Amino acid sequence: MFSKILIANRGEIAVRVIRACRELGVRTAAVYSEADRGSLHARLADESFCIGPAAARDSYLNIPGIISTAELLGVDAIHPGYGFLAENPHFAEICRDCRIAFIGPAPEAIEQMGNKSQARAMMRKAGVPIVPGSDGPVRDEAAAVQVARTIGYPLIIKAAGGGGGRGMRVVQNPDDLRRALSEAQAEAESAFGNAEVYIEKYLEEPRHIEIQILADRRGSVATLGERDCSVQRRHQKLIEESPAVGVSPRLRRALSRAAARVAETVGYTNAGTVEFLVDQSERFYFVEMNTRIQVEHGVTEMVTGVDLVKEQIRIAAGERMTVPKDVEPHGHAIECRVNAEDPARDFLPSPGPITAFVPPGGPGIRVDTHAFTGYTVPPYYDSLIAKVIAWGQNRDEAVARMQRALREFEIVGVHTTIPFHQEALDNAFFRRGEVYINFIQRRMDLTALRA
Ligand code: ADP
Repeated sequence: MFSKILIANRGEIAVRVIRACRELGVRTAAVYSEADRGSLHARLADESFCIGPAAARDSYLNIPGIISTAELLGVDAIHPGYGFLAENPHFAEICRDCRIAFIGPAPEAIEQMGNKSQARAMMRKAGVPIVPGSDGPVRDEAAAVQVARTIGYPLIIKAAGGGGGRGMRVVQNPDDLRRALSEAQAEAESAFGNAEVYIEKYLEEPRHIEIQILADRRGSVATLGERDCSVQRRHQKLIEESPAVGVSPRLRRALSRAAARVAETVGYTNAGTVEFLVDQSERFYFVEMNTRIQVEHGVTEMVTGVDLVKEQIRIAAGERMTVPKDVEPHGHAIECRVNAEDPARDFLPSPGPITAFVPPGGPGIRVDTHAFTGYTVPPYYDSLIAKVIAWGQNRDEAVARMQRALREFEIVGVHTTIPFHQEALDNAFFRRGEVYINFIQRRMDLTALRA
């Protein structure tokens, strides 16, 4: 096992990793930006160092700064969390060159999955179903027209290097294709430094269902069931749950098998998530693999009892994972992402000081957060301030506990997405489990939140 791990991240995930390290008896080193001075992860770690100004490119994305801090402190591993450098193959490679273990997959696997168009091609070859679409990148209008002819409209143009729900454009008809293509390419270039785009058929009302996997360096791949992450706004997840309502044992097995095949195809190690879109007739399509721990990993932890972050660390240290090949989930878990945003004003970011912060508790409730009374939400980063996860014997109990927890949760000083979640949990379609990626637009009336 490692003796000291540097956490190259901030916020709740940095706190989550520190907790795992502490339980494993591993020392921790936190890095923080000037805007995160006094933040919880910096306070909880055994050692903490300021690595630069607020802007992420000068701090949490500053590879030389992070590596030199790691060397100075003599850490033997780096946990990248999610976001920032977590899916940067270059960073993983530098860690390897410096003989610091990167707690994640090999740089080659990150790279192969990081180009989503390339990943599609690989998966098709491996016999994993993919969304009908282009064969590789689409460079010009003529190529786009050709693809549109075979798959029809609507279609979606996606950035090969995209992530976080950004860099996607839905095209309803041929008249919009040319403009959408050049806009998508320009946006991809500026957001991800890579103008490459590809095209998929735009699926109507699919569900987003993903499979959590763990793979160790001895060749075992474990699947830990699915998460339904269909409740999304602008392709970004807001509510996740496990198991997915109404998924047949046959579909669950097929998804798990496909996910394991994806992992085996790239020689994957560590924790990863294989994402699928599933249509009403239970046909499923691979969309991408996330080569890191995800925000919503806690949902799987609650139904499986597996500590995914500790497993990540054990795997990176070359140990055998302590998880059986197929884990049977127990009960039901739901996560609501509490963001510092105002749902009544189109989810406008709401940074600033939190004057009172009283998180909920009681049976079945877990809150992962870095916030506290007196904490100031900086405007520079992701707006996630807490994740509330509710577990119940069944979905009804999990929902009831979540509703109870959200009522208890007191946050004063910033607006949060709690009122949105309360509305969603009351929604009759949500209660019946009728969720799909357009659920918010089609089934929720957000004007109710303005009252
Ligand atoms: P990112 O890497 O940015 O998360 P994904 O490829 O995982 O992008 O897609 C994110 C979300 O965008 C999906 O969960 C889904 O809601 C929507 N989406 C992506 N591809 C399609 C598609 N072909 N048809 C319909 N929706 C899609």
